[in-house]
Amino acid sequence: MNIKELYQEIILEHGKNPRNLRKTDNFNKDAKGYNPLCGDNVHIYLKLNEKKKVEDASFEGSGCAISMASASIMTDLVKGKEENEVKEIINDFLGMIKINPELKSKNLKDDERTKLMCLSGVKQYPMRVKCATLSWHTLISAIDNTQEEINTERLD
Ligand code: ZN
Repeated sequence: MNIKELYQEIILEHGKNPRNLRKTDNFNKDAKGYNPLCGDNVHIYLKLNEKKKVEDASFEGSGCAISMASASIMTDLVKGKEENEVKEIINDFLGMIKINPELKSKNLKDDERTKLMCLSGVKQYPMRVKCATLSWHTLISAIDNTQEEINTERLD
């Protein structure tokens, strides 16, 4: 199996069996996001403790395999991390999907980096990029408490 096939396999598996597809009890941050081009929608929930560490992350929603896999991988990965680490990882991920060849964040473990790189295949397909980044833009909105629903057609 080559790397591309491995990446596709991981995305399909997460798309079929998304992790954290539920609503966090006593969440203290949340945001909704919508990708009208594909019909993907997500509602991200976070529970941060008093030290701003993510105790739990989850999502509800529906959409294509890429949007669901991205939300699944993302919610798994942010658990146990501090808010500033999460923000750094979001920027790193969005940078990688847009232009950077690799992820640079030191807050990522090797297996986490591999899972995120699974989504790098969308780079050649602008429509798929919106599927892959929807939950990440929505996570920013949740962390910043903007109370604003993310719409991928209104992002740069
Ligand atoms: Zn999609």
